[in-house]
Amino acid sequence: MNSHDSGIDPEATASLRRKASMIHNRLFKLYGEPHWTRLDGVSELVSTILSQNTNDGNRDLAYTRLRARFATWDQVRDSPTDSVIDAIRPAGLANQKGPRIQVALKRITTERGRLNIDFLADLSVDAGMAWLTSINGVGPKTASIVLLFCYDKPAFPVDTHVHRLTGRLGLIGPTITADQAHDIMVKLCPDQQHATFHINIIRHGREVCHARSPECDRCPLQDLCAHFSQKPTVDA
Ligand code: SF4
Repeated sequence: MNSHDSGIDPEATASLRRKASMIHNRLFKLYGEPHWTRLDGVSELVSTILSQNTNDGNRDLAYTRLRARFATWDQVRDSPTDSVIDAIRPAGLANQKGPRIQVALKRITTERGRLNIDFLADLSVDAGMAWLTSINGVGPKTASIVLLFCYDKPAFPVDTHVHRLTGRLGLIGPTITADQAHDIMVKLCPDQQHATFHINIIRHGREVCHARSPECDRCPLQDLCAHFSQKPTVDA
C-alpha cells in the first residue's frame, strides 16, 4: 500500500492532509460536534441499504415500517420477500432493496451462525471493508458507514454531498468517482475525526454548498476552495 494507489504523491498527500485539517477545523467551528444515533451493526447495515438512492426522510419511514411489521431481523430474513418489499416501499427501489436486505441477512446467518456482525470490531478497516463489500448490494459507502458508526473504525463514507464538496474543495480530483474517494479521504482525514468531519461536510453540503447554487458568499471555506478560486472565469 502506498500513496500512489490514489494517484497522489507523498508531498501532495501531506499538503492535502493539511488542507483537510483546516477545512475540518473551520467546519467544526461552524457546526460543532455532531450527534448521531448509534445502531447495532445489522440494523445499521439494513438502514444504510434502505438509504441507497433516497433521502433520510424516506429511509427513516421505510426503516420504521420495517421494524413495526417484523419483530426481529430473523423474521425479515425468513418472511416472504413481497412482505418485506411492501414494508420498505417509501425508500424507493423496494424491489431491489427487499431481496438485497434478505440476501445480506442470510449471508450473515450462514457465515456467523446468527444475525450479529460484531466480529467486525476485531478486524482491520481493510478486512472489514472486504467482508462487507463481498455481500451482494453492499458497496464502499454502505460498508464505510457500518464500520465508522458502529465500530469506530477510521473509514470515510462518501455520499453525494461528500463527493461534491471534496471535489469542489479540491481534496479529490475531478475524475475521481465516489467509490474511489473513500480510500483517498481515509488518508486525508485528520486522525480520529472521521465521523465528525464526514457529518459536518454533509451538513455543509445541505446548508451552504448546494448542488446547484452553492452559497459561496457566506461560506468560510472560500480561500480553501478550488471551485471558488475558479469562479470568476468559470461562472463569468
Ligand atoms: S466556497 Fe462555495 S463551492 Fe466552495 S465549499 Fe464553499 S459554498 Fe462550496
